[in-house]
Amino acid sequence: MLKGKTAVVTGASRGIGRAIALKLAKHGANVVVNYRNSVDAVQEVVKEIEALGVKVLAIQADISSYTDVENMIKKSVEEFGSIDVLVNNAGITKDGLLMRMKEADFDSVIDINLKGAFNCTRHVAAIMLKQRSGRIINISSVSGLTGNAGQVNYSAAKAGIIGMTKSVAKEFGSRGVTCNAVAPGYIQTDMTEDLPAKVKDTIMGTIPLKRLGRPEDVANVVAFLATDEAAYITGQVINVDGGMVM
Ligand code: NAP
Repeated sequence: MLKGKTAVVTGASRGIGRAIALKLAKHGANVVVNYRNSVDAVQEVVKEIEALGVKVLAIQADISSYTDVENMIKKSVEEFGSIDVLVNNAGITKDGLLMRMKEADFDSVIDINLKGAFNCTRHVAAIMLKQRSGRIINISSVSGLTGNAGQVNYSAAKAGIIGMTKSVAKEFGSRGVTCNAVAPGYIQTDMTEDLPAKVKDTIMGTIPLKRLGRPEDVANVVAFLATDEAAYITGQVINVDGGMVM
């Protein structure tokens, strides 16, 4: 379904981004897998994608850096000729109650989770608008919809992603470029591994489907949004949360 297309997935060395990169590759896309630190992990992802018979390029870039992202997008176009799908997935948490939150922890979460998505969208925009087609998929979170005590920085960034998604959808729609957000609930990755058991139990109590999410649950929706079948969907937020928020 995505044969001959090129997808850039940020934060694709682990977790949800890794699952998205693999899923898009299974659909036939060539994939740029971005990462910041995890060299060994990204090499594994590269091997798995190569085994699927598509092209893959790993690029180290800190998405909060405008120039890092500019170079990443330049390299991607040099290698593959175009970019058809951008998945703004990379993100971090630095949780803490507002009264104790350090300024640096607020700033770094906004810089990576929100400005990172801006940087990537900014640098692929000219390419997609010129080719009059493209898919931008932003990974938000249910925390951005409902708020979450202890996540003022993260929920602000994730709510910001939703506003950005809708604005980009309105700016780019007339050129055949769609922009949607996916809001995962509680997905089993490194990001959620360290939560205390008590918190995990409380979260489980709020999930009607009575299981935690898998990275693949998110990847399946992202892959659908990347295809032609999703051509008439833009500016939407799709929750992948087992019914947690409705
Ligand atoms: P994860 O397992 O912690 O993986 C994070 C990924 O982002 C890694 O590949 C990491 O690269 C990359 N990354 C972090 N900072 C970066 C930067 N400055 N530049 C480039 N890459 C960077 O996280 P995850 O759980 O898969 O989360 C993926 C996305 O889903 C995030 O946006 C997160 O907020 C969102 N989300 C997750 C959940 C959940 O329950 N897990 C729920 C809702 C939303 P390195 O490996 O090199 O560090």
